[in-house]
Amino acid sequence: MSDTFDVIVIGSGPAGYVCAIRAAQLGLKVGCVEKWATLGGTCLNIGCIPSKALLQSSEEFEKTKHALADHGVVVDGVKLDLARMQARKGEVVNANTKGVEFLFRKNKVTWLKGAGRIVAAGTVGVGGTAYATKNIIIASGSESVPLSGVTVDEKQIVTSTGALELEKVPGHLVVIGGGVIGLELASVWRRLGAEVTVIEFLDRIVPGMDTEVATAFQRVLKKQGIKFRLGMKVTGATTADTGVTVSVEPVKGGAVETIAADVVLLSIGRRPYTEGLGLEDVGVALDDHKRVKVDSHYATNIPGIYAIGDVIAGPMLAHKGEDEGVAVAEILAGQVGHVNYNVIPNVVYTWPEVASVGRSEEELKAEGVAYTVGKFPFTANGRARAMGDTDGFVKILADKATDRVLGAHILGPDAGTLIAELVTAMEFGASAEDVARTCHAHPTLSEAVKEAALAVEGRALHI
Ligand SMILES: Cc1cc2nc3c(=O)[nH]c(=O)nc-3n(C[C@H](O)[C@H](O)[C@H](O)COP(=O)(O)OP(=O)(O)OC[C@H]3O[C@@H](n4cnc5c(N)ncnc54)[C@H](O)[C@@H]3O)c2cc1C
Repeated sequence: MSDTFDVIVIGSGPAGYVCAIRAAQLGLKVGCVEKWATLGGTCLNIGCIPSKALLQSSEEFEKTKHALADHGVVVDGVKLDLARMQARKGEVVNANTKGVEFLFRKNKVTWLKGAGRIVAAGTVGVGGTAYATKNIIIASGSESVPLSGVTVDEKQIVTSTGALELEKVPGHLVVIGGGVIGLELASVWRRLGAEVTVIEFLDRIVPGMDTEVATAFQRVLKKQGIKFRLGMKVTGATTADTGVTVSVEPVKGGAVETIAADVVLLSIGRRPYTEGLGLEDVGVALDDHKRVKVDSHYATNIPGIYAIGDVIAGPMLAHKGEDEGVAVAEILAGQVGHVNYNVIPNVVYTWPEVASVGRSEEELKAEGVAYTVGKFPFTANGRARAMGDTDGFVKILADKATDRVLGAHILGPDAGTLIAELVTAMEFGASAEDVARTCHAHPTLSEAVKEAALAVEGRALHI
């Protein structure tokens, strides 16, 4: 046996590294096992951060090429330097992963380098060394869901990981799956010049999102040039030197069709990753979706073993995992850790962005809750007009009897930042009137939030 720890966290993604830092802040002796060469997990290395770096760069490119002239800024000879764009993305990732290393040193968290295996409750093996620990936290994250008949080579048929690394803009990119990750990467490559076709099994994009918002979102993406084939299922993809041939057929039945692509992005979702952890040997129970089963305190069925992040139930989002990391660290330190799952925001970082929190209209209807809707379009917001970013609207759903905000959905410029106000409002149990009576600076995009809150009572001022 080597060192003894109070807590060993397996995985250094946003759930794991945040948990490690919080536990160390609370005076616990913490080790964090990570098998990759850098800390930060999917989010920092191959997820949130590199995708947002490319979204930002591609947005700058598109703006310079197409939108600035409208502002009277004429730029001739705009060219793409994809190698530089990719190098910049690498620098952004590096700064973030190194940042986590710094935070580990600052908080005296020991990085146990290598793959971790739970030998028994109280013992974690890493590269031939067994470490004793009072508590183990599984934060091993998730991986892309495979599709039968579509073999990923990360060159011609890629997951999001390969799609973030392309060295050439594909002539035609076919995206399998109209979810958040697929649409963000579709936007990146369309802006850089690819023709993009999104193939989706369902008859709508972004499943789970408020339908009115999803429909408006699809319209905007279509206007930007992305083609959609909804209600279609991919049955196979074959690669050749000349490209990829994708076979599709209508979900409802009908003729098989082939689509020629240069690159195919498989993005039909993610699934929990538990390989090599030794869970079967220790007897840690999984649920029907192969997620680690936990109670409301993140405890598994084996005393002393906990789990957080993408590997357990709930939305696969970095901030959800971070909050669970903080909660379980506080629970282990004898405090009252807690996550309010009713107010976890969800953002799609396209442009315009889409952001939501709480219930959709469909959910409220299904739950039989009487509600009122307040909506306000960005076309009527002065700042959005000044920016030239008027696509979209703010929609607030409030309880008909109490006026309490039950859900909020925004399609529009900087929606991901705007939603924070409504997340805070919901966390504090605010009514739509509370939001409407709060002073909002003029001229800001946030006035559209205030106006939507006013519209709940039918008294928006600027429309
Ligand atoms: C392209 C893309 C874009 C995304 N964009 C966003 C976004 O904008 N916003 C958002 O909220 N979410 C986004 N996500 C989702 C987000 O990345 C995940 O929800 C988040 O990373 C989950 O955190 P986690 O800590 O649970 O696991 P992960 O980040 O997956 O980290 C798990 C870590 O555990 C390590 N590990 C696993 N098993 C072992 C073992 N046995 N021993 C040692 N180490 C091990 C892995 O190497 C990995 O580093 C995106 C995902 C992708 C793929």
